[in-house]
Amino acid sequence: MGRAERKAEAREEIVRREQHRERRRQISRILHKPATERSPGERQLLQNYGELVQELERQRQRRERLRGREQEVVDGTEILQKKVSELADSVREAEHMVIYTGAGISTAAAIPDYRGPSGVWTLLNKGQSVSTGDLSEAEPTFTHMCIARLHRAGLVQHVVSQNCDGLHLRSGLPRDATSEVHGNMYIEVCTSCSPHREYVRLFDVTERTALHKHNTGRFCHKCGGELRDSIVHFGERGKLAQPLNWVGAVKAAKKANVILCLGSSLKILKKYHCLWGMNRPSSRRPRLYIVNLQQNHSAQGLTKI
Ligand SMILES: [Zn+2]
Repeated sequence: MGRAERKAEAREEIVRREQHRERRRQISRILHKPATERSPGERQLLQNYGELVQELERQRQRRERLRGREQEVVDGTEILQKKVSELADSVREAEHMVIYTGAGISTAAAIPDYRGPSGVWTLLNKGQSVSTGDLSEAEPTFTHMCIARLHRAGLVQHVVSQNCDGLHLRSGLPRDATSEVHGNMYIEVCTSCSPHREYVRLFDVTERTALHKHNTGRFCHKCGGELRDSIVHFGERGKLAQPLNWVGAVKAAKKANVILCLGSSLKILKKYHCLWGMNRPSSRRPRLYIVNLQQNHSAQGLTKI
């Protein structure tokens, strides 16, 4: 094939693609009209391009599904009461209950979140300042206090949290009943000491740390080693025994017959298979309750509140 022919062919291909794009735009415009307002010519076009119509229709449905998932959904009072009383029965009757918590339970606290658009880490990373007054005023929410109370009453055995805000510890929940699997922004650790030495601070220790950069710039009083934060960033694997306490989390999940998830979309937690008892026969898997405004995934034995 000569150079001129190749060029002509390439040009034709470009024209064909442009025609196809134009056709899609045209069909899409017609589909956006109410059926009654379409002209006979437009209806004919839709018939002629059935495959394209189906493809566009599938895309539209997909977009709607995604939009629906992001929306916050609140049940009507009657349905809500029924679900809540079912949950209350379940909590009373549970032999071993664990609670998984996410950012949604901390939004009511006087604390900015960590990695959100106006979170502590995000602002500092952009070189903006964060008012430290906000951090020292952080107080556990009603939810945190209820969880601590349920634990004292022997109704909840363990709490696994994705939050780094340390509010579960501030609520009085004991260390051995808590797993902060993404770390705690108020705890720095000396890994040169054996066993590791923890420093629990009243201030945020992550001011100078970031992904793969965990040294806080402060040093261990005992051995002089540099301290590191305990935060597990997206894409990292947390190795610290505390405050992550994976041993405690896995042990609790193995025994759990009821799991209650609060304020988490579960996007991250569902990847940790060890937390869901999925290796048990389906009749012996834990009962699952999810309390979250956004829609979650459906699963066997699941109640969404
Ligand atoms: Zn040390």
